[in-house]
Amino acid sequence: MENLTTAFLTHLHSDHTAGYADLIMTPWVLGRAQPLSVYGPPGLVNMTEHILSAYEMDRDMRVCGLEPITGAGYGAAASEIGPGVCFQDNQVSVEAFEVDHGKGWMALGYQFTTSDRRIVISGDTAPMDSAAQLWKGCDVLVHEVYSKKGYDMREPHWRRYHAAMHTSTAQLAQIADQVRPKLLVLTHLLLWGSTEEELVSEIREHYDGEVVCGEDLGVY
Ligand SMILES: [Zn+2]
Ligand SMILES: [Zn+2]
Repeated sequence: MENLTTAFLTHLHSDHTAGYADLIMTPWVLGRAQPLSVYGPPGLVNMTEHILSAYEMDRDMRVCGLEPITGAGYGAAASEIGPGVCFQDNQVSVEAFEVDHGKGWMALGYQFTTSDRRIVISGDTAPMDSAAQLWKGCDVLVHEVYSKKGYDMREPHWRRYHAAMHTSTAQLAQIADQVRPKLLVLTHLLLWGSTEEELVSEIREHYDGEVVCGEDLGVY
């Protein structure tokens, strides 16, 4: 965990940031030698400052008490970014792109390019017109999705919200058919009573490529 030194944040919704404090603090306590580098949309710096402020007493107790750690690895260096290449080293290039996930703020997806793979992560988004062209031929497409069957059981006002902010199985199947990734990994599963098997079946009704449900720490 101390090797976890860089993070990319898609947007500031709480289901994507409630673990941010954990990511800043825990690897430091376990031995991370430098502050966490974080890239994300505008608003990230403000959120980071407030989290660090909330944990001031914890830091002081750990650094000044008997615990054998220093303050060197404490904290996070937050960079607010927009679309474009935001990170590059000798192994990977990371490019952010803007997605369609609500008005009044910026939400991002990321494309990771290595010597042998191009991996696209959609973040949270409604279907985008630009997706097919942007992502065409990538090796792995990690995309958010909701179950159409579950959606049909939701209240009308919730359906309006979900349709504006997220992507259904039928819509994702259509996107995947245009992009033709070698592997489609489903993530951020909004099931609303459906099972993961049903979700995959909904995709397979309209898409014949390789598809799996993603899991935390999964390797593909
Ligand atoms: Zn969201
Ligand atoms: Zn979300």
